[in-house]
Amino acid sequence: MPELPEVETIRRELVSAVSGKTLKDFWSNWPKNVSPKPPALKKKIVGCRVKAVKRRAKILLIELSNGLYLTIHLKLTGQLIYKLKTKNSQLIHGGHPQKGGLDNLPNKFTHHILTFTDGSKLFFNDLRKFGWIKLADQKALGKLIEDSGVEPFDKAFTLAAFRKILERYPNQKIKQLLLNQALISGLGNIYVDESCFAARIRPTRNVRDVTKKEVNDLFRSIPKILKKAIDKKGTSADSYVQLDGKPGGMLPFLNVYGRGRLPCKRCKTPIAKIKLNGRGTHFCPNCQR
Ligand SMILES: [Zn+2]
Repeated sequence: MPELPEVETIRRELVSAVSGKTLKDFWSNWPKNVSPKPPALKKKIVGCRVKAVKRRAKILLIELSNGLYLTIHLKLTGQLIYKLKTKNSQLIHGGHPQKGGLDNLPNKFTHHILTFTDGSKLFFNDLRKFGWIKLADQKALGKLIEDSGVEPFDKAFTLAAFRKILERYPNQKIKQLLLNQALISGLGNIYVDESCFAARIRPTRNVRDVTKKEVNDLFRSIPKILKKAIDKKGTSADSYVQLDGKPGGMLPFLNVYGRGRLPCKRCKTPIAKIKLNGRGTHFCPNCQR
C-alpha cells in the first residue's frame, strides 16, 4: 500500500495533470466503492472545475469549484492513470503497477473513470477493488480528518502530543502503535521500520519501555524520513510507482526495509526480518535494542 510519501508524490503529479480542468463525465462499474452511487456522483461533479488537489494522510482530495471534494483512497492495489486525448499522449500513472494494467485503457482492471472536457481521462485501476471514491462536503471532510490521527507534518504533531499518544498505549508494541492510522496517520510498514532504525528502537519493544530520549529521537526521525522520501518521490516496493510511471527514488536510501540479511549500513550486522502482527518487520539486532 502506498504510504504518505507515495500518495504525496501522486498528488504533486496530479496537480500538474488536472488542475483547472473541467469534469465532463464519470463512469464506474464498481459502485460498491463509490459514494454517493455513480449516477448521483456524476450529477454533482459534471461541469465542475478542479480547483486544487490536496491530501490528508493517504487520501487524495480533489477540490472542486462547487465546494465539494472528490476523495480517493488507493488502498492496497489502486492505481491512477492519467491520459491525454491524443493517441501518442504520455500516460502518467501512480500507485500499484499491474501487468498489462496500462494497455488498451480502459481494461479489465479499470473500475472508475473521470473524463475531462479536453478529452483527457483519469483511470482508476484496481486489481483487488478495495480502493474507493467518495464525494465529501466540508462537513464530511472534517469528519474524515477528525477520524484520522495527527499527520506528522501537522502543527499539532508536537513532542508533547506524541508523548501523550504513547502514554495511552503502554502495552502495545511500538511498531503496532505507529501503524495505527487513527493515532498517527500516513505511516506504513516501510517508514515505520525506517523510523525505528533511525531512533535505534527495536520495532517489537513495548511502548512503556521506550525511554524519553528514544521518544525524542523517534519524534524527530519520523517527519525527517517522510520528507526525504517525498523528496525522492517515494519508494518503489513491489506495489508502487509514481504517476509518471518512474519508480520512486527512495529505495537506495532505506536502511532496513527490504534489507533482510544484508549488512546494516551502520554496523555491518545482518538485518533481521521477522513477522510482527503479520507484517514483515526489519531491524538491526545490534543497533536497535
Ligand atoms: Zn546495525
